[in-house]
Amino acid sequence: MSKINYSTEQRNSLLSFLSENPDKMFSAKQVELALSGKEISKSAIYRNLAELESEGKIKRCSKPGSRESFYQFFDCNSCRTHIHLSCQKCGKIFHLDEAAAENLVTALEKNTGFEVSRGESTLVGICKSCGEKK
Ligand SMILES: [Zn+2]
Ligand SMILES: [Zn+2]
Repeated sequence: MSKINYSTEQRNSLLSFLSENPDKMFSAKQVELALSGKEISKSAIYRNLAELESEGKIKRCSKPGSRESFYQFFDCNSCRTHIHLSCQKCGKIFHLDEAAAENLVTALEKNTGFEVSRGESTLVGICKSCGEKK
C-alpha cells in the first residue's frame, strides 16, 4: 500500500482523539466533527473506526432508540486486568477500579471456588446517570 503513511496518520489522530476522551462515546458523525480540522475523510473515519473495533481498541455500542453506532476508547492492555460495567440504556462501558472490584471478586471466588477472569467479565446494568434520568 503506497498510502500507508497517510492512513496511519489518520488512524492515529482518530485513536488519539478517542483515547483523550476514554469515558465518552462518540458517533461517527461526532468524530467527524471533532476531527474536522484534520484532513481525514468521512470514509476514512468509518473505515478506521471499523478497523479499531475489530482490533479491540475501541468498543462499538448502540443506544436504544437510535440507529447510530457509538464508539468508545477501550484499551485492551490495561483492560485485561479489571472488570467492566456495561449500561443497558446508553451502552456506555465503565472501567471498574481494580481495588474496588477486588472485594467483590474475592468474596465470589471464596464462596464458589470459581476463578473470575477479570478482563473478560462485564456486569450489565443501568449506569448512574441513566438511573437518575427516569
Ligand atoms: Zn477497562
Ligand atoms: Zn447509562
